[in-house]
Amino acid sequence: MEAIVKAKKFVYEFSEGNKSQATLLGGKGANLAEMTRLGIQIPEGFTITTEASIQFYQEGKQLWDALKEQIENALIDLERKTGKSFDDPKKPLLVSVRSGAAISMPGMMDTVLNLGLTTESVKGLAVQTGNPAFAYDSYRRFIQMFADVVKGVPRVFFERELEQVKAVHQLEFDYQLTAPQLMDLVTTYQKIYQRETGEAFPQVPREQLYQAVEAVFRSWNNERAILYRELHHIPDDLGTAVNVQRMVFGNLGNDSGTGVAFTRNPSTGDKELLGEFLINAQGEDVVAGIRTPRPIKDLERLDSSSYHQFLEIARTLENHYEDMQDIEFTIESGKLYLLQTRSGKRTAAAAIKIAVDLVHEGKITKEVAIKRIDTKQLDQLLHPTFDPTAIQQAAQLGKGLGASPGAASGKVYFDAERVASAKHEGIKAILVRKETSAEDLAGMVSSEGILTARGGLTSHAAVVARGIGKCCVVGCSAATIDEEAKTLSFGNQVIHEGDVISIDGASGNVYRGRISKTKAQLTEDYDTFMTWVNDLKTLKVKANADTPKDVLQALQLGAEGVGLCRTEHMFFQKDRIKSMRKMILSHSVSERQVYLNELLEMQRQDFFEMFVALNGKSMTIRLLDPPLHEFLPRDPEEIQTIATEMGQSLTDFEHYMDSLAEVNPMLGHRGVRLGITYPEVSRMQARAIIEGAILAGKEMGKKVEPQIMVPLVGIVSELSYIKKEIEAEIADVFLERGEEIIYKIGTMIEVPRAAITADTIAKEADFFSFGTNDLTQMGFGFSRDDAGKFLQEYEDKNLLSPNPFHTIDVEGIGKLVEMAVQLGRSVKPNIELGVCGEHGGDPESINFFHKLGLEYVSCSPFRVPIARLAAAKAVLAKV
Ligand code: PEP
Ligand code: MG
Repeated sequence: MEAIVKAKKFVYEFSEGNKSQATLLGGKGANLAEMTRLGIQIPEGFTITTEASIQFYQEGKQLWDALKEQIENALIDLERKTGKSFDDPKKPLLVSVRSGAAISMPGMMDTVLNLGLTTESVKGLAVQTGNPAFAYDSYRRFIQMFADVVKGVPRVFFERELEQVKAVHQLEFDYQLTAPQLMDLVTTYQKIYQRETGEAFPQVPREQLYQAVEAVFRSWNNERAILYRELHHIPDDLGTAVNVQRMVFGNLGNDSGTGVAFTRNPSTGDKELLGEFLINAQGEDVVAGIRTPRPIKDLERLDSSSYHQFLEIARTLENHYEDMQDIEFTIESGKLYLLQTRSGKRTAAAAIKIAVDLVHEGKITKEVAIKRIDTKQLDQLLHPTFDPTAIQQAAQLGKGLGASPGAASGKVYFDAERVASAKHEGIKAILVRKETSAEDLAGMVSSEGILTARGGLTSHAAVVARGIGKCCVVGCSAATIDEEAKTLSFGNQVIHEGDVISIDGASGNVYRGRISKTKAQLTEDYDTFMTWVNDLKTLKVKANADTPKDVLQALQLGAEGVGLCRTEHMFFQKDRIKSMRKMILSHSVSERQVYLNELLEMQRQDFFEMFVALNGKSMTIRLLDPPLHEFLPRDPEEIQTIATEMGQSLTDFEHYMDSLAEVNPMLGHRGVRLGITYPEVSRMQARAIIEGAILAGKEMGKKVEPQIMVPLVGIVSELSYIKKEIEAEIADVFLERGEEIIYKIGTMIEVPRAAITADTIAKEADFFSFGTNDLTQMGFGFSRDDAGKFLQEYEDKNLLSPNPFHTIDVEGIGKLVEMAVQLGRSVKPNIELGVCGEHGGDPESINFFHKLGLEYVSCSPFRVPIARLAAAKAVLAKV
């Protein structure tokens, strides 16, 4: 018997799918299918799957017969449902062909509208609608879009002609063009098409469709889509689906229109419908920001029935998806159609407010709320705002719409490429444009902030800026931008390229000059949300903090202690570094002791203040780990002063400095090695820590239990040696003060040998803290200071990604950590384990550390909230 092989299904009618099929049908396709299931009025159509787009590449970037056959069948069905046909010029079927990836990539891929129009069928459309101007305008738009998307003909060739006709007839807007003028334009457009492509504009709708589907598949790999995926960590092999859907027209007259709405405010999260629409326009006009749209509320007055229907649908969709929706609609001759619904992009503040509100409304659980907040979004919340007093004195130039919060100052540049190159030169820039388009993405990413003269809150600039967390002001209509003369004017005030302005992405205000900033204000919703985060996570999040000021900052951001105090950083201030330098440059123990006494005073006071600020929370203090090149004086005048103060001749002093210089200081005389050659340095520090702790304990009326950490240990004997010295000094302190406290001595695991021999080391250590910076440096043999020069090349060539200094290399360095955890616990089951390298603030690495069952991560204060959220997400990822 012959086996029946069922052909793979590549084409789904909307009625065949549902919202859980985003991987196959793309987000848009899955949502169109879901809306069909919900009985919401959408134009009929079908989806060609993402699998088809993957196969398209395997087939040498062309459609194959089996797929064409399935498309053909779906078309026949569409023709039956709509009563229109590709083959009947009197009743032409017109469709849109849109991309739709599984993960939304707004505006990054291509779309073709009005497909199906030909020189014959445009006449049918004119008769059918009784509106020849509309018909020819649709054809004109189609030719331009098809030429651009399918054939790569630059849009400006067409736009130039359009502008010229408008200028000749003294018209301000496109919709003022008459039918004869549009007919002429169509003829001109066809000529441009012929000239640029060497062929006539295709007159067979099926041919148009196949070419458009191929072009949309290809647009998955256009430059901006690739960049967007890189920025948002979207895999390159997902492919895009294509949605083919009957056209409905918002530009049929004054009882037609098109709009976009969010079911909640995407900037603040407030529970209010926020939308915009344009009468007599197509959807692209709203998104492109070419005409400034009207608020959705105005629709009530113009078309009350559509408005109320829309409100009802918006409510239904939000309840159904249990999330804020971003909805596109069109009204065709008074009839409302939904074109798209998806989870709306939002600012971090809005994301938190919406998640918290939805939990309070009983719609989602706290776990779902936590899953929904992206760790990167939290970064936005920590963005600064302008200093309120400085603002009062600032010269305001104008006001637009605050589209993405934050405060930015920078030099004005009018093109995205210039902004990107300014970034490389270390210049902070504001990108100023009439409106932005997808090509501007790289410049937007490089800018401090974005200002546009046109467009609404759903324009490209606004949506993209919110997505990437950039401060952005749009629709600043008081601004006149002359991109050629490179000027930005507000009335008679003219800003030239390179002048500095400031923009406020919350209020929409634009100011002249630079304005000082203050830190972000965290809201009550943020506090509520972070309480849920804390309740869920099991990994503690501590901070790397080196001064009393850092400690206060870290505590404010929710740190549960200090996991790493780098004591050498306490001497970076000018007035302190001298004592440190003299200590390093001393010739004898007795001379060194003089300067160590100066350092002791400073450190004791710092530790005291930090312990008090911590009020009982733990602090791990690392003994000095100064790479010598960072601490030796360089300035000749200072060298002379120090030599004189230390009673040495300049020549002798310089010789001695030369003898201390190292070829490779990062692998040199640092960390525990310093303590081995100068045990008096470690002793001084142990004294400062213990005395500071005793004093702080007295001040607070509770005991402090300091953790003393020895850096760069590779051999257990190093640790044993230092430990003895420290313990002896501490015993002296206890004796002198007639008082004892509990303390711990542990080590960093940051030299590969330490990880491999962690069982032996654990016998001497009360705790381990993984110094993943050095562990990565020494594990890979990549210099921390120099690897930046070539690691980008590694990423570009797909040899190593992501950068192992940002995200832990699970396969190699992670294995060292895992091995040390097992070995350490085999000797001391309860040994305290944490991470204090930069990876302690990186979400992906945190997930790995959580899986290893570590007790804490420690990171810089500003990353603490992100780390807390990542730790909670790690719990959810595990189940
Ligand atoms: C480390 O190496 O990971 C570490 C925390 O120490 P430092 O960065 O100070 O070398
Ligand atoms: Mg280190």
